[in-house]
Amino acid sequence: MNRLAIGLGLVAGLWAGSAAIAHDGLPIGDGKIAREPRVGHVFVCETRFGGGGAQRVGPWVREGFWFAGEKIAVRGNVPWPNARFSIAVEGRDRVIRANNLPNHASGQFPVRADDPAYAYDRNPNTIREQGIVWRLPAQPVPAAHPTCVPMGQIGIALSGVAIYNALDGLGRDAPAYEIQDACGGHPERSGQYHYHDLSPCLDDREGKAGRHSALLGYALDGFGIFGPVGDDGKEVGNAALDACHGHVHEVPWDGRRVTIYHYHFTREYPYTLGCFRGAVDRTLFAGGGGAGGGPPNGQRPPGPPPGGGRPAGPPPR
Ligand SMILES: [Zn+2]
Ligand SMILES: [Zn+2]
Repeated sequence: MNRLAIGLGLVAGLWAGSAAIAHDGLPIGDGKIAREPRVGHVFVCETRFGGGGAQRVGPWVREGFWFAGEKIAVRGNVPWPNARFSIAVEGRDRVIRANNLPNHASGQFPVRADDPAYAYDRNPNTIREQGIVWRLPAQPVPAAHPTCVPMGQIGIALSGVAIYNALDGLGRDAPAYEIQDACGGHPERSGQYHYHDLSPCLDDREGKAGRHSALLGYALDGFGIFGPVGDDGKEVGNAALDACHGHVHEVPWDGRRVTIYHYHFTREYPYTLGCFRGAVDRTLFAGGGGAGGGPPNGQRPPGPPPGGGRPAGPPPR
């Protein structure tokens, strides 16, 4: 690209306002935590953050942006042949049974000392099965008021993997700082393997073909989470979505076309839900509802920070 084209790109970016950027960097979402529903923010239930995260900021993070194309991934190609996942509509419920192992290969966790990712994020956790039995409303309706999302699981992808909100244990932009594997997943302290944003290993043939993205998962309130592409074939962002990161229009739903609220994964922070639009059974927050395993919060066991300066402290909560 010549200098004129770069200049024009910059001008176009400025002209289009702060949402437009003249390069492929994504604005870091640090600090975009809200105590009420707010577009572009995470309305999170926790008020204190002291957990883990990456111990060193990678060179793909700079000047308020992070560059996904430059970011490294945790190495490895670990298959999970025992992964189980099923969905059944039983009466008014959609029952999801899973053991939370991915239907795709994962990276090697704990992160090995010879993995380049180790220099930035020494995730010491091991992926472990989690017994998930969720009874969600099969036909969810919006609640009178949106509610906060917890740390820990806020939904589940059709790959069997838990979906977390955008924040790491320190309340920072998790996809920017933490190092996931090539499928965008990593385990937290109880071993729960999870995504913080759209996984490239989810099957969104619809979106890739320029149609409204496919259903890729369910939130704990029962609403669907779709891929990033909207009805016009373009990726949606905060401008097209409400504070909870969703909107209402006709989508495929249980084999029919239904006008219903749904969330979108987006490339733009907060990547997944900003809040719950529907009523949620809060007993599911703390690993209840058969979720088993340890505490859902936090990314790392307490202990001395490895190397570069993450404070030891209590897990977020
Ligand atoms: Zn995480
Ligand atoms: Zn949509």
